[in-house]
Amino acid sequence: MNGLHLPQRVRHHAAERPDAPAVTWGNTTLTFAEFDRRTTRIASALSSLASGSGARVGALLRMRLEGAECFVAAAKSGLVFVPLNWRLPAAEAAAIAVDAALEVLIVEAEFAKTAEAVREALPGLVVVLVDDVSERILPGVWTWDRLAASGSDTDPGLGDDPDAELLQLYTSGTTGAPKGVVATHRNLHNEPEALRIYRWRTDSVALDALPLFHIAGAGWLSTSLSAGVHVVLLDAFDAGHVAELVERHRITHAFLVPSAIQMLLDLPGLGERDLSSLQLIAYGSAPITPTLLRRALDRFGCAFVQRYGMTETTGSVTALTAEDHDPAGDRAYLLRSAGTPMPGVELAIRDIATGADLPAGVSGEIVCRSRNNVAGYWHRPDETARLFAPDGFLRTGDIGHLDADGYLFVTDRVKDMIITGGENVYPIEVESVLAEHPAVAEVAVIGVPDRTWGEAVTAVIRVADGADPTVAELLDFSAGRLASYKKPRHIRFVTALPRNAGGKVLKRALRENLSAAEGVPS
Ligand code: ATP
Ligand code: MG
Repeated sequence: MNGLHLPQRVRHHAAERPDAPAVTWGNTTLTFAEFDRRTTRIASALSSLASGSGARVGALLRMRLEGAECFVAAAKSGLVFVPLNWRLPAAEAAAIAVDAALEVLIVEAEFAKTAEAVREALPGLVVVLVDDVSERILPGVWTWDRLAASGSDTDPGLGDDPDAELLQLYTSGTTGAPKGVVATHRNLHNEPEALRIYRWRTDSVALDALPLFHIAGAGWLSTSLSAGVHVVLLDAFDAGHVAELVERHRITHAFLVPSAIQMLLDLPGLGERDLSSLQLIAYGSAPITPTLLRRALDRFGCAFVQRYGMTETTGSVTALTAEDHDPAGDRAYLLRSAGTPMPGVELAIRDIATGADLPAGVSGEIVCRSRNNVAGYWHRPDETARLFAPDGFLRTGDIGHLDADGYLFVTDRVKDMIITGGENVYPIEVESVLAEHPAVAEVAVIGVPDRTWGEAVTAVIRVADGADPTVAELLDFSAGRLASYKKPRHIRFVTALPRNAGGKVLKRALRENLSAAEGVPS
């Protein structure tokens, strides 16, 4: 059987291993046979609510069973699934729903107000509520059970075109407004690579701890279902809950972003938890400091795999394999690398200004070409044109270099690079140094406008519990470890760093706050 399409893969496992667990959420576990049957019923019901192939079906749901069902059901009915970021303020989530021109919106009661706002802007919208309380909150809507009951057991059979659009995700909005990214079945097909790199087997139990509106969350779900691996859904990130699920379900594999790894390591009483079932932790989506990575390797004692990618590449461009994580070996420097290209990915480093290819060892913009790259953004032709170089390579907006062995080192984002006194400073390098100081729990480095230097390197620090470092002490610490132009000129202490739903530090928010609070320092 052709393994390209998510619906076909689910059907395949339902036929071959009907009683194997497919998805667990809370106290509910559906086998592949049950999951296949339910998603077929929902698919046929959704088809009758939407105008036809390619129509957008949105979801405003925490990670829960109905989200997973909706994803596969939309795929089976030729519809495009659009999971929305429920952490956004209602007006922003509603703006995205309108941007996507949703025809159907699956929503939980907690977000009913947002659904109302969307319905006002999109009068034809069909709203489906997943909770029983729904009728009281939003009159005149469908409920999930009514939807499932209205469907038939005949698969609409519309989910088998490899180039059909399947998923529309919005970028994390780290550097600007979120943009809709449209992915096809072919783009999302990662199963053979994932099986090899994650070392998945059919008895693996994979924890999906990221939201569906994030490519890593949606990708992990579609890949685990395609591979026939039992996936356990985590409603919303909470370190205690992660530990509990690992213990309860004997989780073998998890994908965690660096901030989640940090929260898990800082969880009080972690030492008493039995996390011995963990075989492999995949991480990525944001830079990790070597200090954090070493702590994690030490504490969890399982294999680690790093992924580097973006929404527009529907997942991984490169991976640092488990074998490449060897903190005691003579290739320990690889802990700073994002690894080597995934099979089928062409990777190059190009001069930011001229677009010329650069040799190993020289930094420039990371560009890549593969079948996982999407064709472009939804309704944004100008942004789509900027995304691709003339030869079709996708411009990641990230800076990095390749070493002589072909390992990629991601230095930073083009937009976050600081230019101070004419020198380029990459914040991640400065952050990695400050993170080694025991009093530093978290740090983000940004450039703030400065009359003399153009931009001044500024470190924003959350201090570790019980520590009380002085600015002078931290400046001294970095002075011994960084070239003088890279040293922070200012240090600010905060109680929390602003982060988006994927756990990424919102540097543009930090820059705006600091510039507004302090004016332009001289
Ligand atoms: P927006 O495009 O809206 O500003 P975003 O780029 O954060 O948001 P995503 O597509 O979720 O949205 O994230 C992709 C980016 O995350 C990459 O371009 C890169 O900067 C960063 N990233 C992903 N994986 C890694 C990694 N392993 N190491 C360092 N950075 C990473
Ligand atoms: Mg981006």
